[in-house]
Amino acid sequence: MAILVTRSSMPSFEEYCAEIRPLWESCWLTNNGEKVQTLQRMLCERMGAKQVSLFANGHFALEAILRSMKLTGEVITTPFTFASTTHAIVRVGLTPVFCDIEPNHYTMDVQKIEALITEKTTAILPVHVYGHLCDVDGIEAIAKKHNLKVIYDAAHAFDVYRGEESSATFGDASMYSFHATKVFQTIEGGAVASDSLPLHEALALERNFGIRDPEDVPAVGGNAKMNEFQAAMGICNLRHLSDEIGKRKEIYECYLTHLQDVKGIVLPTLQAGVTYNYAYLPVLFGNKRDLVFDYLEKHAIHARKYFYPLITDYECYQEMAGLSDTPVAKKIASEVLTLPLYADLTKEDVSQICERIIEALSI
Ligand SMILES: *Cc1c(COP(=O)(O)O)cnc(C)c1O
Repeated sequence: MAILVTRSSMPSFEEYCAEIRPLWESCWLTNNGEKVQTLQRMLCERMGAKQVSLFANGHFALEAILRSMKLTGEVITTPFTFASTTHAIVRVGLTPVFCDIEPNHYTMDVQKIEALITEKTTAILPVHVYGHLCDVDGIEAIAKKHNLKVIYDAAHAFDVYRGEESSATFGDASMYSFHATKVFQTIEGGAVASDSLPLHEALALERNFGIRDPEDVPAVGGNAKMNEFQAAMGICNLRHLSDEIGKRKEIYECYLTHLQDVKGIVLPTLQAGVTYNYAYLPVLFGNKRDLVFDYLEKHAIHARKYFYPLITDYECYQEMAGLSDTPVAKKIASEVLTLPLYADLTKEDVSQICERIIEALSI
């Protein structure tokens, strides 16, 4: 049977049915219903954020933050990310300015941010890529000095902590994705964590047509509400999240054991003091990346070139003026594969995948 790069963690069918049964009594399916409110409370607690705003997906949560903050001009961001990060900036009418990444954990290189700041810069949008935390202190210092907002794309960093601090406590706001492929999923879904009540209120308008109440419409909002079925999935999954992450950690460590002595590859290193969610296992294969990828495909093992191509190489951005050179990001994008990783992957699967990798490297 084929091994996919990821597989959604799901509650039992019975558990989910029990969770959605009340919806057949209330017939309240969306518009800030009971399940959404419950999940929101649970997440405030879990994430250690004063405000959690739930969304239909992570992408629109990110767009909603950018719109709600009424940003203008340029936003400094990373090209080593999923399409959503840059698309959100561009779709709300802002200009992305690309900062290179640092070579160990692939997050934005703080040393290179200030050179990119102009009088048009209004925000920094870094990504906690693969659950590695950005240099949040370095970024905060630069943002303070230049009066910039900091918005984290924390799509990979749900339930990641620096010491006791949750990833949701950094910057002015953090966006999370609860897409089916993420560590914690609500089928499709997303959230914004922040400490700001005014932002939380503006986000509520953004996701519901700008309607505060039926006769009071102060903003030109869109529609990106999480519905009750999504929230019910989240409530169930949150019960099992710590177990799921524990299983992922075992699989992750099993990979490292098998691959630690293999020459010519670079295994991920974890940041000291950070508690990970083990969402991804990125490995660098040098100039053998495509060869390994193809060999695994041939054996029905589906790894992922995540992230390749770089955003700055996307067809849709070729017309954009002044794309900066980001050599580290370019190199990592050309060498990286994320290997299959999910809670129900077996150790036998891992052992087999690693054998195939070693075979491929000996070709
Ligand atoms: C998944 C993801 C998103 C988008 O989230 P959706 O919930 O799929 O809209 C944004 N940024 C990154 C880095 C992601 O991995």
